[in-house]
Amino acid sequence: MFVLFFLGLESQNAASQTRKPNVLILATGGTIAGAAASGTQAAYTSGAVTIDAMLNAVPGIKDLANIKGEQISNVGSQDMTFDIMLKLAKRINEVLPGPDLDGVVITHGTDTMEETAFFLNLVVKSDKPVVMVGSMRPSTAMSADGPLNLYNAVAVAANPEAKGRGVLLVMNDWIHGAHSLTKTSTTAVQTFMSPLRGLVGIVAYGKSDFYNNPPWKHTTSSEFDISGVTTIPRVDIIFADVDMSPEPIDCSVNTGAKGIVIAGVGNGNMNKAALAASERAAKKGVVVVRSSRVATGTVARNVELNDDGLGFVASDELNPQKARILLSLALLKPHTLQQIQQMFYTY
Ligand code: ASP
Repeated sequence: MFVLFFLGLESQNAASQTRKPNVLILATGGTIAGAAASGTQAAYTSGAVTIDAMLNAVPGIKDLANIKGEQISNVGSQDMTFDIMLKLAKRINEVLPGPDLDGVVITHGTDTMEETAFFLNLVVKSDKPVVMVGSMRPSTAMSADGPLNLYNAVAVAANPEAKGRGVLLVMNDWIHGAHSLTKTSTTAVQTFMSPLRGLVGIVAYGKSDFYNNPPWKHTTSSEFDISGVTTIPRVDIIFADVDMSPEPIDCSVNTGAKGIVIAGVGNGNMNKAALAASERAAKKGVVVVRSSRVATGTVARNVELNDDGLGFVASDELNPQKARILLSLALLKPHTLQQIQQMFYTY
């Protein structure tokens, strides 16, 4: 009787070890789904190829996992919207917690991939792998990078070791975490970097090696809930530069922005006129976050500017585009400036 019971357990374990993972690919468009008239032509159209056609271009991908594809949108990511991001997040939250699915891959344009990755990092309610992937060359290009990127992304999504690390991005053999990654080159295949915190891991021809667990709150430990949300509060980014005009800041406030992120010079700084406009905005209840146009480094409170006195928030490690995502979600509910500042330290 006991022997039979243990034999039963053994075969169950063997079955679960050999079970082929189930991965869902949610396609949104981008260059990975782009097509040009020839293999060497620079001009192409993003979001022209469907998920089925993309999968057919990747030999062996179906050996990694049972794969299903769904088309969420088919846009260049310059046209990504909060509406599409909400649709994507809600679909993930609907299917990923269920027992059958092991991971999700999202194909996406690279231009705004960091924003969608960070948004999902804050609102997905599962610790299973969610992996973003794109390409720098269209599907028709000579040496297209999409097929191997997609192969590696599915391998990471199917790997239980990828669990609990938040939303990941896989491109050009590197595995990035959503908090730190950023696009650094307009055209190079090696465009994504994680300058402050380094890589979460690497993946070569489907074999992954994980180095790091991102230390910030994300997914299942995040307080943000978009289940009933249909619109995201407006937050504008204003770029600071030499002798800048304060008018864009006043204009943002006067046309309804609930928050402003300053892509400041240096440590989130701006000239006196912009500072006065930002102070006016803060006094009217618009949340002003100081981030930086500089590619790496943190923006700390009360260094050159007195944030306590001016009523500003410092973005810590988040670049302007990710600071905007966090602030937009923070503004879904009333929070004090101190609470919002705390979010910038924890997410
Ligand atoms: N414009 C494209 C996009 O973001 C670029 C790319 O995917 O690399 O959709």
